[in-house]
Parts: sequence; structure tokens; C-alpha cells
Amino acid sequence: MAYSFDALILGGGAAGLMCAIEAGKRGRRVAVIERADRLGKKILISGGGRCNFTNIHCWPENFLSSNPHFARSALARYTPADFIALVEKHGIPYHEKTLGQLFCDRSARDILQMLETECRRAGVRIFLNTRIDAVVKQNEFLAQAGNVEFTAPALVVATGGLSIPKIGATAFGYDLARQFGLAIRQPRPGLVPLVLNADDCSRYCDLAGVSAEVSAWCGGQSFREKMLITHRGLSGPAILQISSYWEKPQTISIDLVPGSEVTAAFRNPKAARNLSALRTELRKYLPLRFADCWLETNTPGSWTNHALAEFEKHIHSWPVSPAGTEGFEKAEVTAGGVDTDELSDKTMESRKVPGLYFIGEVVDVTGHLGGFNFQWAWASGAAAGRAI
Ligand SMILES: Cc1cc2nc3c(=O)[nH]c(=O)nc-3n(C[C@H](O)[C@H](O)[C@H](O)COP(=O)(O)OP(=O)(O)OC[C@H]3O[C@@H](n4cnc5c(N)ncnc54)[C@H](O)[C@@H]3O)c2cc1C
Repeated sequence: MAYSFDALILGGGAAGLMCAIEAGKRGRRVAVIERADRLGKKILISGGGRCNFTNIHCWPENFLSSNPHFARSALARYTPADFIALVEKHGIPYHEKTLGQLFCDRSARDILQMLETECRRAGVRIFLNTRIDAVVKQNEFLAQAGNVEFTAPALVVATGGLSIPKIGATAFGYDLARQFGLAIRQPRPGLVPLVLNADDCSRYCDLAGVSAEVSAWCGGQSFREKMLITHRGLSGPAILQISSYWEKPQTISIDLVPGSEVTAAFRNPKAARNLSALRTELRKYLPLRFADCWLETNTPGSWTNHALAEFEKHIHSWPVSPAGTEGFEKAEVTAGGVDTDELSDKTMESRKVPGLYFIGEVVDVTGHLGGFNFQWAWASGAAAGRAI
């Protein structure tokens, strides 16, 4: 069987669907080709099932890329306000959870249904259970799925990154980019829990489930949010955020009591200086079990001003050298990807191969935690959808 369209969009996730809607609205005959049995599986599991679909404080600084300016243009031309207008047009109830993060009140299904409805209205053809095995470019692009052939003058790759292979993530997009001679920035897990080295794990992993507000620093970036201790290491928003900046063998510095001085009380000459007094102070700032464990493993060598200052310094800059990350199985995104030098920042079209576009997570643009990755998917999808 053979189909001919104006554009083929490989991948029916957030970026591919937005691209299809924008192109379809302009009268283009577009096909979304999705290998899974349904569209937008990642949308459905996102944000704990409520989809953190954008962030109202979205700036280029919220994205990592080897070219920090690349995302500016697309983000400016499709903003959180544009997506919110779409959500409101469909009467989807939503709320701001924290730090500008917008979530569905009911379910992520609302967002997927909205995109499916928009696709229908824009006349987009959807092909499910259709895995593209090979793509060649003759006069047009020819994409082969078993014995079905699709041809079009434009091909948009929206096949996502490597995170969560169990719901179907593959290296297809990177392989295709390589096939056409485009450079790739090494893909690596982002927004991912960290695994502690054996020493730190033996000291702290028994505290699994305990959390505290911390500041975590690495690579010139810092995030002040919650940290969670896990059975194998560290997680929670502060850690997920900093993980995107971390590469082995760097050290992450963690301030366990940001903005507070644990030993302030000891400036009073009448204050008793002993373990029990310090424990009382520390328990004001950290959960009890964490405070006690920290004291056990970091007992001051003496009770001099110098020793207390050292204790204070250490708790504000705990050096953590993770053994690694939990990998793509647990990573919310894939950092790295198709090198932005290869693409137009206005249209996402390849500079080398006219008609070939890359959008969404497969591109070397990675958002912070908090709705930024979807905003990139909408914005890059819209940029390509307006161009094809
Ligand atoms: C657990 C989890 C929670 C998340 N929560 C949030 C959140 O709340 N907010 C946020 O902003 N971001 C969140 N993210 C990140 C966000 O989901 C992704 O950044 C976003 O979905 C990327 O969109 P995409 O369209 O580029 O790729 P994807 O959504 O991964 O879509 C790619 C599609 O391509 C299909 N495909 C792959 N290969 C082929 C092929 N050969 N042929 C045809 N089809 C193919 C896949 O089946 C898939 O449907 C979360 C991620 C995870 C894993």
C-alpha cells in the first residue's frame, strides 16, 4: 500500500501532534505515523497523571543546550500563553501547583483528548501501530513501514529521546539524523535520580523516604527545592534538576540547611556545647532521623569555635560524588540529541537536508523540571508545523 502526503510526521507524542495541528490548520495534508497502539503515551503518564503541561515563567534560561540561544526564537513564537489559550478553549480545568507549574485538575487525558480533537479538526491522518523501519530521500522522502510506503516532500522527526524504554523510547531519531549526516550531541539521562557511592549509601540510604529542602549546586547552576533520600541514592526536585547538569566524575555540592545557621545558638557564651545541644539545634532544621544520622557521621572533632565553624561549613556544602544515575529507565528526559547547529532555529529544518525537520526531545534542547519540556515540544512542534 502507498500513501502520499504534503508532510510525514514520525512520532505521535507532544511535539508531533502540535506540529500536525499547526500544519493541518494551514491546509497541509499531513500524516502522523506512530508505532505504538495509541498516541501520546508519555503525555498520559506525565506529571503523575495530571500533566504539567507548561510553566508560566518560561525563559530560555530554563533550557540546557550546547547552544543556549537556539530555543529562543521558537519559544518566543509559541508561548505558554498560546498553549493556555488552547487549554481554555477546550474548557480544561487546571491549576498552578508551584513555581508557575500548570497541571490539569482532572487528568492528563484531557490534554491528549484536546490534541486529538484539534488533529481531527485540522484533517490530520493518524496511523497507529505503524513502525517506520527505513527512510530514504529520492525526489521526496519515502518512509517504509513493513509493506506500507509513505511519501512526502517534508519529513518531521518527532520520535522523542531514550528515556523510559518500557513505554517505547528508541534511538530511531538519532539513527535517522546520523543516516542523513547530522551531528548528535551524546544523549544522556536528564531529570534522573542519582545513585550514591557505596560509602555515602551505607551512611544515608537507610533514611530512604526522608526529605528536606536543600540547595544543590553543580556546573554553575543551583536549585533550591526538595531532596528525597532513596534506597540507592538521592532524588526529589532539587536532585532531578541538578542531575541534568551533572556528569561523572563531578561533585555536587548540597546545602542541607539553606539560609539558616545551625550553630548560631553557640555564640551565646552561656550555651552548653555538647552533642545533645547540637542535636537539638539540628533537629530544628532537618527531619529527626536525618539530623541524628548526620550528627553520627559528621560529629564535630571538638567544641571549639573553629570545629563548630567547620561543622557549619560542611552542612552547607556537603560534597556528593554520585556513582552514577538511575539511567534512562528512570530519566524523565534525554539531554543531548540532534545538534542545534544542524537546524534552523526558526523552522527546525535541517540546514544540510532540505525538507527534513527535527522537533521535541530528539533535539539537543532539554528543559528544567516543571512543564518546560512540554513547552519545548509545543514550541518546536509549532515552529515546524508553520513551516512545512
Ligand atoms: C514519567 C515522565 C513524566 C513526565 N512529566 C512531564 C511533565 O509533567 N511536564 C513536562 O513538561 N515534561 C514531562 N516529561 C517529559 C515529556 O514527557 C517529554 O519531554 C515529551 O513528551 C517529549 O515529547 P516528544 O513528542 O518529543 O517525544 P515523545 O513524547 O517521547 O513522543 C515520541 C513518539 O514517537 C514514537 N516513535 C518512536 N519511534 C518511532 C518510530 N520508529 N516510528 C513511529 N513512531 C515512533 C513513540 O512511540 C512516541 O509516541 C515527563 C517524562 C516522563 C518520562
